[in-house]
Amino acid sequence: MNPAQLERLSENLLKLRLFKSRERLEALLQDAAAKEMAYSDFLEQVLSEEVAAKTSKNVTMRTSMARFPFVKPLETFDFAYQPSIDKKQVQTLATCHFIEHGDNVLVLGPPGVGKTHLAVALGLKAIEAGYRVLFTTAANLITHLTKAHTEGRLDEKLKVYTTPRLLIIDEIGYLPIDRLGANLFFQLISRRYERGPMILTSNQSFAAWGDVFGDRVIATAILDRLLHHAVTLNIRGNSYRLKEKLKAGLVRTEEAEA
Ligand code: ADP
Ligand code: MG
Repeated sequence: MNPAQLERLSENLLKLRLFKSRERLEALLQDAAAKEMAYSDFLEQVLSEEVAAKTSKNVTMRTSMARFPFVKPLETFDFAYQPSIDKKQVQTLATCHFIEHGDNVLVLGPPGVGKTHLAVALGLKAIEAGYRVLFTTAANLITHLTKAHTEGRLDEKLKVYTTPRLLIIDEIGYLPIDRLGANLFFQLISRRYERGPMILTSNQSFAAWGDVFGDRVIATAILDRLLHHAVTLNIRGNSYRLKEKLKAGLVRTEEAEA
């Protein structure tokens, strides 16, 4: 192939934004010539490399847009340590059908049992499946909604939380929520109701959500909508953080069992 033709091919690949093929052009051509590849095999090789590169770039971009607190896939979750979790149920959730159906996932349990890890891991599965995901904590969400409400931009801010296909709201119940916060939270839940699936985590049982939201009526209205189409994972077990401390000899076993 002459340099002028190589140059033209390179320019066209750039115009088509086929960056991987452009970067690999010479190597791919040499390889095809050396192996005396069939035209169809060559084309398949070029296109599959381009698709793989674009997919991986897309996943990386959507992972950073999701604003996870950490990136840990489901494959690093130790189910043996947490027998109260139904592994099959989580694996079914990992297929992301719940997103198609618009179902919510509620993860309940004490601190350290892996609620955030599971929420992030399912969020990553959703990203791999091509969905847009946003992760936030309840405290962060309410702070932002309250600020937007005060500044007269509530509608705009609500869109930020309703646009992503999957919204993850972590740590409901760690901090008390005031009346305005509860009201704004309810507005968001109502907007996503039966449209956008959510994953929510809480260290408090549903019965305690009246205290969390400072208002039994609002808490009931929120739960009513959340639980209409929902899967609840109730984790009862020891903190994984404690396991790591035990391993490091930082706490005694009697302390851990107390
Ligand atoms: P929670 O949100 O329930 O307080 P996290 O999900 O933040 O707990 O878990 C605390 C730490 O322990 C995280 O680093 C998490 O990755 C890890 N962890 C928790 N449970 C498991 C588990 N079963 N297997 C592997 N790592 C775990
Ligand atoms: Mg957590």
